[in-house]
Amino acid sequence: MSVEAQKETLEFQAEVSQVLNLVIRSLYSNKEIFLRELISNASDAAEKLRFESLTDDALFEDDPDLRIRVTFDEEAGTLTISDNGIGMNRHEVSETIGTIASSGTKKFFESMTGDQSKDSEMIGQFGVGFYSAFIVADKVTLITRRAGLGEEHGVRWESDGQGAYSIENVDKPSRGTDVILHLNEDEKEFLAGYRLRGIISKFSDHISMPVEMEKEFHGEEEEKPETPEFERVNTGTALWMRAKSEITDEEYNDFYKHVSHDFEAPLAHAHNRVEGNNEYSALLYIPSRAPFDMWDRDQKHGVKLFVRRVFIMDEAEKLMPRYLRFVKGVVDSDDLPLNVSREILQHNRKIDTIRQANTKRVLGVLEKMAKNDAEKYQTFWDQFGKVMKEGPAEDFGSKDKIAALLRFASTHNEGDEQNVSLDDYISRMPEEQEKIYYITAESAAAARFSPHLEVFKKKGIEVLLLSDRVDEWLVSGLTEYEGKTLQSVAKGELDLGDMDDEEEKASQEKQAEEHKGLLEKMKDVLGDGVKEVRISHRLTDSPACLVVEDHDMSANLARVLKSVGQDAPATAPIIEINLEHPLVERLENEDDEARFGDLTQVLFDQAQLAEGGQLDDPAAFVRRLNSLMLNLSGK
Ligand code: ADP
Ligand code: MG
Repeated sequence: MSVEAQKETLEFQAEVSQVLNLVIRSLYSNKEIFLRELISNASDAAEKLRFESLTDDALFEDDPDLRIRVTFDEEAGTLTISDNGIGMNRHEVSETIGTIASSGTKKFFESMTGDQSKDSEMIGQFGVGFYSAFIVADKVTLITRRAGLGEEHGVRWESDGQGAYSIENVDKPSRGTDVILHLNEDEKEFLAGYRLRGIISKFSDHISMPVEMEKEFHGEEEEKPETPEFERVNTGTALWMRAKSEITDEEYNDFYKHVSHDFEAPLAHAHNRVEGNNEYSALLYIPSRAPFDMWDRDQKHGVKLFVRRVFIMDEAEKLMPRYLRFVKGVVDSDDLPLNVSREILQHNRKIDTIRQANTKRVLGVLEKMAKNDAEKYQTFWDQFGKVMKEGPAEDFGSKDKIAALLRFASTHNEGDEQNVSLDDYISRMPEEQEKIYYITAESAAAARFSPHLEVFKKKGIEVLLLSDRVDEWLVSGLTEYEGKTLQSVAKGELDLGDMDDEEEKASQEKQAEEHKGLLEKMKDVLGDGVKEVRISHRLTDSPACLVVEDHDMSANLARVLKSVGQDAPATAPIIEINLEHPLVERLENEDDEARFGDLTQVLFDQAQLAEGGQLDDPAAFVRRLNSLMLNLSGK
């Protein structure tokens, strides 16, 4: 097989050099992960070959036993990871190795903030992949040939990681990939069998593909054979297939690090084997910190699907509901076909059953954590609470379970930490209180200091403070808990039920009658901008506030929708005024039509500002306010 070696030298994409530098700097203290990453790529390549060969068994050529080999040459100072997997052709090499096309690195790059300390913290959440070789090597050579008898030549790629790489065609009879690391002067520790075996056992023990190293020979008695003999180093037993009682916490944690590429130990795991007519094993983990793209609802899921120990696909999103997309782990089915595709998974009863069971298990683990280790649960909530809040709207069947796991900020506490459960709230409700009150606002401060809370403060009624964007979505899906309605304090007529006293009620009705003229005049000024002007029983300190009717969209939700570029139907709010307030008194005594108009409009605009809204015409507001201020001083 002779080839024309067309050698090209190419520049890395600028981003590659950037990522490379960051990878090297920030991962140096964990440098041995380079081996995990390269073995993981070799294993992926072998799995790909196995998968493609299901439809084309010629790919195996005459070498059916898939394996990965790790060898080193002390004299040359090189360490080589080779596989007989799928390999790459020239186009694939330049697409995947010279550019940020590879999945892990690309995601990482997209999420870089430019703040180095933040970025290096984040890097652990990605498969940093191939480039991690440069943590320990000052030159990397990759020689590869794609599987299949029609592939005529191999490809040699080489780079010192300094901005450029070369690529040329070479002769390579065997399929697969060799990655040769020319180790830095300081990294010669990796030229030792025991060191490498140690790393392989730690990070790659669970790889089902054999990872082999040359047999070691000691002393005089044994004679080293001419051709090296290899032995398997990793046990390759799928951890999830072993009995729970035989697995140590450390083994569970190491496996987590392997499937998630995370450095940190997980918060908890659930491990189950299900027998019967849908047999499978599931090993699921709850990470201890959220990945950068958690809030992206299209974020990839973390559960891998295996069928009878054979890896089928990453990110099998059908195995977990979206609001549990942070869960990582493995599901291994005995009953699905090996050539199962994403399309098949869409409508598969077995998969649906597995998803339901997974959901139940994860919620069960969380319930237990919340009960037995509140501090740990708080860590969980701070990281993943926002995602869990999508749950009630998405998973009707688990609504009550999810609701019990929710945590909120509350007027009962000082800080903004979300640590009050609905059960906590209910346990503090006075007997006469019938509803669970909450407010949604754009920020924690806007919620806590909203005028809508004034009467609740006065009467000592607790209100939950909801200021995550997803909270609007949450309350649309969760309207009651334990038989108690969740009621927005900014919606509808305020009805405190038995907590209103009769006398107050009677005097309120009388007031409405007495001030009818004022309300009508204000409505004339505000026109279609408001639905109604009425007397408020919510306010003690503020002159006015805006509310909407029970079935109307809350002002906060309208703002959230607008901010993401969606149309929000325009619902005119109701303005409520506080008769006790001096500004309202002044309004009532105002004879000058123009000033009455300005003052009314300013009250309305203020009420919008107070709940975190924006004015359509801020300049007009300023003009009116200034004119009123001048008038005041003249009076
Ligand atoms: P990731 O594994 O997350 O895709 P990597 O940087 O580890 O990112 O690898 C980049 C890409 O290079 C892989 O997706 C694969 O296409 C290719 N690749 C790397 N190593 C090998 C290998 N040993 N055999 C075949 N392809 C490989
Ligand atoms: Mg990889």
